[in-house]
Amino acid sequence: MLREFLAVRRWEMWTVPRQALVHMLLVEAVALAVVVWSAAGASVSSSDLLVLSLLIVCAVVHNEIARGIERARRDIENNAHVDLSSVWLFAGVLLLPTVLTAVLITITYVHYWWRNPRIPVHRRMFGIAVLVLSARAAELVLTLCVGGPGSLAGGLPLPMVVAVVVLALLVYTAVDVALIAIRVALCRNPGVTVRKVFGDPANHMLEIATLCHGALLAFALGYHPALVVLALPQVLVLHRAVLLKQVEEKARTDAKTGVFNSEGWHRKAHHERDRALRAKDGFGLLMIDLDHFKRVNDTYGHVAGDAVLKAVATAISSEVREYDSVGRFGGEEFVVLLPGMSEHDGIGVAERIREAVTRLAVDAPVNGSTTTITNLSASIGVSTYPSAGEDLEPLLLAADAALYEAKNTGRNRVVSWASLVKPRLALAA
Ligand code: GH3
Ligand code: MG
Ligand code: MG
Repeated sequence: MLREFLAVRRWEMWTVPRQALVHMLLVEAVALAVVVWSAAGASVSSSDLLVLSLLIVCAVVHNEIARGIERARRDIENNAHVDLSSVWLFAGVLLLPTVLTAVLITITYVHYWWRNPRIPVHRRMFGIAVLVLSARAAELVLTLCVGGPGSLAGGLPLPMVVAVVVLALLVYTAVDVALIAIRVALCRNPGVTVRKVFGDPANHMLEIATLCHGALLAFALGYHPALVVLALPQVLVLHRAVLLKQVEEKARTDAKTGVFNSEGWHRKAHHERDRALRAKDGFGLLMIDLDHFKRVNDTYGHVAGDAVLKAVATAISSEVREYDSVGRFGGEEFVVLLPGMSEHDGIGVAERIREAVTRLAVDAPVNGSTTTITNLSASIGVSTYPSAGEDLEPLLLAADAALYEAKNTGRNRVVSWASLVKPRLALAA
């Protein structure tokens, strides 16, 4: 372990793109400066130390009891997610001086990461720094409005107290989201959407609910420290409820590529068809099949084939809008639903995807070294609702027939269902 730590050149941190790394180091440096600065002039009372100890005990007990839940959540989703520790941290923000809040954040997360060791060290350090700065920003709100943390119950009118707490909560969230969004944006990973940069709105709502809980806990602690005991069961129940959402998401997702699986895509597509019917709107449907994919497997092996599938899924997702639905129908076949799109626009998107696939250069592991796989192509069939069918199955069959035609006429092509039937209609006329 120590030898690993001393092998500085092998630290995972060096794999982070330079701009993102500079941002992370800057955030960490500013957070450290803030803690040192506030430690110099801090006056800490014995009741502050009592509150700090209680919050640390609760955070550690919470982490310990919730370990099973966290493990299940991480197995489902490896991305950053809300872990509900903010209940304890935000109560600390409202009650404690900056230096003690930093101690609370550091102990809580060092313990959390000791128990969940899969997160790289540089991400943990950055996580702590972001929280320290978010906490400091919220404390500045308190200092400006009511004279500092711990002064909430100092005889101010209640509406004023609530307004200050809400403002501090929003500032805490805004700083947290902004610093993480900058890091994600600077990493410039392929396929990163605005939603991925700013995070899932549902997660932000959960974070805000957690902070509200933390605010109530701060008021309870101000009344009597023993009331902290009443907060723990609620946090644990909420934590378990959060797992449910993750399980639902996993059931809809194709594990290999991260896009919808067949069942998830069908559910989304039925929903869209109902919406289109109500709104008298149309939508486009693309059926995409990689050309000669078997050769990729035969030449480079299945693991490399999987890397190609992942890269193709990312390329498709990058070429469509955030609210278009990309799914994998098993094997090397993908399907895309494009709400509101005409046949002409659908063909345009399909052409973009086809070109993106031909540009792909996929680094894949082959016989212990990395090989770059190029010369990929895909054939795409396009159909549109309602002209090609008024239900999903006929629409899929129409797109499949167009795809079949693209394969038969040379591959690496886009064919629309309408172009197949128009000549027949012309003959009939
Ligand atoms: P065509 O241009 O006619 O579509 O030829 P193709 O080789 O792409 O199509 P074919 O249906 O003959 O072969 C599809 C291959 O996809 C065969 C199968 O081994 C491979 N395949 C299916 N699922 C997976 C997977 O999850 N991973 C990998 N690596 N390969 C897969
Ligand atoms: Mg194929
Ligand atoms: Mg196929």
